[in-house]
Amino acid sequence: MRVFANPVGSGSLWFDNLTTAEGTPVAYDPQARAFVPMPPFCINREVIGCNWIAPEQGAFCRSCAMTALAPDPDVAGAMANWAETEAAKRWALDNLGRWHWFRPEDPGTRPVFHMIAEDWAPVAMGHVDGVVTISVTEADAVVRVTRSQALQERYRTMIGHMRHEIAHMLWWRLSLRDDFLDAFRDMFGDERADYRAALQRHYENGPPPDWSLRFLTTYASAHPHEDWAETVAHLLHLTDITDSFVAAGLSSPDLPDRGWDPYAEPDSERLIHVAASLATGVNHVNRSMGLSDLYPFVLSDAARRKLAFVHGWLRRGAQGL
Ligand SMILES: [Zn+2]
Ligand SMILES: [Zn+2]
Repeated sequence: MRVFANPVGSGSLWFDNLTTAEGTPVAYDPQARAFVPMPPFCINREVIGCNWIAPEQGAFCRSCAMTALAPDPDVAGAMANWAETEAAKRWALDNLGRWHWFRPEDPGTRPVFHMIAEDWAPVAMGHVDGVVTISVTEADAVVRVTRSQALQERYRTMIGHMRHEIAHMLWWRLSLRDDFLDAFRDMFGDERADYRAALQRHYENGPPPDWSLRFLTTYASAHPHEDWAETVAHLLHLTDITDSFVAAGLSSPDLPDRGWDPYAEPDSERLIHVAASLATGVNHVNRSMGLSDLYPFVLSDAARRKLAFVHGWLRRGAQGL
């Protein structure tokens, strides 16, 4: 994510800022990718702290407009969890917008989000025909860490959920093209394999013993659809780590040059190489605070090939190139 200029004074603004350091209200214009000091603000600004501008007074911003179902506000914690979930969604959408997805220049279908607060039973996240269902309850750190440990996952965040579930929607968008499916099946296998049976097998037997040579995560080994979604999520993680590193003014001998824009990089292998080396470095920085690794994954050769495949399609796909 970039760091933004303050439109009413000195200093910088972060992507989720609602005001400047002096307290002047500001809003993020996702089309201009810049902060502005004036309305129209998104009508969810007071409700969940959305800081995007709206097309007109009394309207939703581009991101909130994609949420067709908001959580039941009577469920404990629902509003705070929803606010955090929408913040993760705005982040993921803005990243994807760097490759033109879901912006005005993208002629294709937008995702529709159903945001559910869990009342008594867990809500399965997923994507069906353009509708992405998200459990906002997972924004609660205790809930999320409990599930993460039960599933023996090394990483579980709302941004990660957003990237993974939107990835299924991106697959659906790309599958409408003639040239995508054969290439996808060559790389990831045949997604027509019985999904329900594959998931059941995964949860009963666990991943294959050699999963780490073939997949980014154990869950990716469950089915080609999950392999795709995990790989897309990781490409978005790695590209955004790199973009944030550059935006923060940090340097590394692995960076191509000053002002390099990871989202504009056409060479997939170069991007993945730089991202992997920066992530390893920041893992080391995190250990200095006793924190878990920023990116607790190892990229096998197979994973790099899949990431490069995904990178090519995400860069070109929104514009039909
Ligand atoms: Zn909004
Ligand atoms: Zn999935």
